[in-house]
Amino acid sequence: MPKQELSVDQLFDQIIQGNVNGLSRAITLTESTVPEHRKLAEELLSRLLPQTGNSLRIGITGVPGVGKSTFIESFGSLLTEQGKKVAVLAIDPTSQKSSGSILGDKTRMELLARNPRAFIRPSPAGKSLGGVTSRTRESILLCEAAGYDVIIVETVGVGQSETAVNNMTDCFLLLMLAGAGDELQGIKRGIMEMADLIAINKADQGSPQEVKLARAAYENALHLMPPTDSGWTPVVTTCSAITGEGIANIWNLLQELDSQITKSGHKNSRRQQQVDQWFADSLSNQVIQNLLNHDDYKSILDKIKAGQLSVSEGTSILLNTLFED
Ligand code: GDP
Repeated sequence: MPKQELSVDQLFDQIIQGNVNGLSRAITLTESTVPEHRKLAEELLSRLLPQTGNSLRIGITGVPGVGKSTFIESFGSLLTEQGKKVAVLAIDPTSQKSSGSILGDKTRMELLARNPRAFIRPSPAGKSLGGVTSRTRESILLCEAAGYDVIIVETVGVGQSETAVNNMTDCFLLLMLAGAGDELQGIKRGIMEMADLIAINKADQGSPQEVKLARAAYENALHLMPPTDSGWTPVVTTCSAITGEGIANIWNLLQELDSQITKSGHKNSRRQQQVDQWFADSLSNQVIQNLLNHDDYKSILDKIKAGQLSVSEGTSILLNTLFED
């Protein structure tokens, strides 16, 4: 049976009170493609804006199997033990509503999923990465308004989604394995350049020598990278998501980073740049969508196909419809 829809006022109150059900429903509203829902979501988001921004937004990536969900389970549990509220969001551009999202699999992060101080939300389904990232950005804001102190955005896809996550978080954590070169792990140089912290996971496995070598290799690789504009020197560390070893150290490092980038003003300026980009992306998505759905689109396309109009003429004609009343 469909749930009764809540008003913007009701959702607003529930979110401010940290009500998880209200938060989930608000996220569902922002993910909807129904124009009515989008309108309500926009109203809700703008009312909640003053309550947002108060969190540390952490991006996490690494190849499938490196231990991301095990790490987040362990890391998230540590944070909640310290009284923090943790939200876990994901970006998976390949996810489909019914099946694809692996965060939707209840066996992942079982402990955290039952933890009242944690909130886990699967990746929104979507056809384009742009649409998926825009929804995730909105989810970050909703989680902040609901009082979450740390927002983890996990990237599940390998490739473009790392950049998308880096563009919506304050810092970026890359999980790696010892004993496999970064080429083997499918991690491109550009992704290593984004990392504030590289953690070699599964340090409980293999020989300590191997872990030490991997650490030295990544430290070397980082030395060769251009300096980050945050002023933070990227760190390589080791951990075991299974035994918990090294996890508290990673949290200490991230807190240090947070305090450094907050003091220097970098956190704020990075967020401002991200909003710039978000606005530009949102405008171009919206404009393209409107043009593709325009009544004249098909007839102009037919004329182009029939050789009666050039592509650039057709583009100008359709673009001009944007400026008509
Ligand atoms: P993901 O695909 O990156 O989310 O990886 P998972 O968290 O699902 O982990 C993949 C496999 O590695 C699972 O069988 C985990 O139990 C195992 N694993 C994760 N972290 C560790 C670790 O620190 N040590 C060991 N020995 N195994 C781990």
